[in-house]
Amino acid sequence: MNIHEYQAKQLLKSYGCPVSNGRVVLKAEEAKTAAGELDGPLWVVKAQIHAGGRGKGHFKEPEAGPKGGVRLAKSVEEAAELARQMLGRTLITHQTGPAGKQVNRVYIEEGSDIARELYLALLIDRKTSRVSFVVSTEGGMDIEEVAAHTPEKILSFSVDPATGLSDFHGRRVAFALGLQGGQVKQCVALIRNLYKAFIEKDMEMLEINPLIVTPEGNIKVLDAKLGFDNNALYRHPDIQDLRDTTEEDPKELEASRFDLNYIALDGEIGCMVNGAGLAMATMDIIKLYGSNPANFLDVGGGATREKVTEAFKIITSDPNVKGILVNIFGGIMRCDIIAEGIIAAVKEVGLKVPLVVRLEGTNVALGKEIIANSGLNVIAADDLGDAAQKIVKAVKG
Ligand code: ADP
Ligand code: MG
Repeated sequence: MNIHEYQAKQLLKSYGCPVSNGRVVLKAEEAKTAAGELDGPLWVVKAQIHAGGRGKGHFKEPEAGPKGGVRLAKSVEEAAELARQMLGRTLITHQTGPAGKQVNRVYIEEGSDIARELYLALLIDRKTSRVSFVVSTEGGMDIEEVAAHTPEKILSFSVDPATGLSDFHGRRVAFALGLQGGQVKQCVALIRNLYKAFIEKDMEMLEINPLIVTPEGNIKVLDAKLGFDNNALYRHPDIQDLRDTTEEDPKELEASRFDLNYIALDGEIGCMVNGAGLAMATMDIIKLYGSNPANFLDVGGGATREKVTEAFKIITSDPNVKGILVNIFGGIMRCDIIAEGIIAAVKEVGLKVPLVVRLEGTNVALGKEIIANSGLNVIAADDLGDAAQKIVKAVKG
């Protein structure tokens, strides 16, 4: 789960990290009061969406709005006007995709003078199974660009969980960032606090881009992006409260309500499968035969008729889906029950695209018979390869 920048900064502030004063604004009428509570002479108005690259982004035509989702203002009035202009508009950045994201909240913040922009991130390194630091002097720009063109400007190291974090790690970061004097001490404290927050709140990712050095020589968190491990959210009700469901894929949201493991992808073949491993194999074989999956969907071991119907609704609500492949292994579940579920689902939600069903396991003969006798236009398949070829052929012709 991701949260907004202003929420991330509030959380990091509670861990003693240096952030600017700011106010979140949901309604244009509140913008002037909010900006007035902050010290000038510079204000920054920042669109709050779960995507980066806001500064270089642009608002969707025809109502063009301000140039970019991060704007400087020289007065309270100007800040309020920028907030008013951003709210309700759609911001497009390289991370939102061409559809962009509607701005429902803006953050007004005290402006900072910037001497240097640096990059700092903590993440879970799956190779070493450790928390890793990624550090670069090239802040304020895309770290992917830096990694591609000047990888020598990125330092990365992981922390041994047995010995934990020590001030040595903080000094290593400070040295890599070219910090001097009192900044080193500030950096060591920051690293300690960030690491503590990361571990305590079960984060997956913590990215500060930029971390700045002010002309006075202080360091400050100017942008913050936090991601949390969904599997650990149950033990962090305070973090769950920060969830903004308007930022999430509505199909994924609906799926989570029915306990379906669903991830939207950009292909054309909707998949309904039980078991993550089988779902992965199904996606692979669709690709092998020349098409692309529209989603990952694991309906789980105990797929009920209701779950199957819900899964069908989610798949068919995706306009990119040109065909559906059902690939279910009836182990604990019986194939005849699954077949009945599929038929009930098709009758309820209708079917405008080809549907290939491959069943295997307990009572498979009865399951196939039920589908064959249903009168529905379902293409039966015998094995995984056969199923994938049939659905790709039905879609591509
Ligand atoms: P994004 O990464 O989504 O573009 P950032 O928060 O990183 O958004 O802002 C983009 C740029 O705007 C920063 O690199 C920085 O130069 C400037 N900026 C952001 N916040 C402030 C601030 N409070 N004061 C001054 N400049 C800022
Ligand atoms: Mg940024």
